[in-house]
Amino acid sequence: MVIVKRRELTLWEKLYLPSIVKGLSITFAKMFKPRVTRQYPEEGLPTTEVTRGQPRLVVNTDGNIACVSCGLCEAACPAYAITIDGQETDRFIEREPERFDIDMLRCILCGFCEEACPKHAIYMSDELELADYTRQGLVYDMERLKRPESEMRKRMDYVKRINDRW
Ligand code: SF4
Ligand code: SF4
Repeated sequence: MVIVKRRELTLWEKLYLPSIVKGLSITFAKMFKPRVTRQYPEEGLPTTEVTRGQPRLVVNTDGNIACVSCGLCEAACPAYAITIDGQETDRFIEREPERFDIDMLRCILCGFCEEACPKHAIYMSDELELADYTRQGLVYDMERLKRPESEMRKRMDYVKRINDRW
């Protein structure tokens, strides 16, 4: 059996003053150093065209949605997050979605929908924030997913550049 003999603390040590003084000196020293933490949400996250945020639907400059309701993104989605119902149109593209929902709680931001789309109609946006009070509120319908082409242009050009490499 080993007996460990504890050292008697001095009065100075029993007051914990050295530890308190040391701790406060570290705190004060750090106060004047540059911040390394981001002041979120006041200070937003940096985004670029490479950012793979939530998917959004492109609205062409003529005001029509680019989607032709082919269902390829729905089939490619590994999380079964996309639900599409198509309808006929009078325009030459003939079909467009009547309903296009993405369940953002299911979406894993994989980008497969973007890759699958043959019509440049769905792209990953730079929108990263997601919050609501109900689960249903996070099922985005077509109106919440639509974005003008000008807003998606940077990402569209980036994806084209990447695809052109092959
Ligand atoms: S990013 Fe991935 S998980 Fe999200 S909707 Fe597109 S295919 Fe589905
Ligand atoms: S793959 Fe493109 S065109 Fe087809 S349904 Fe999805 S978003 Fe629309």
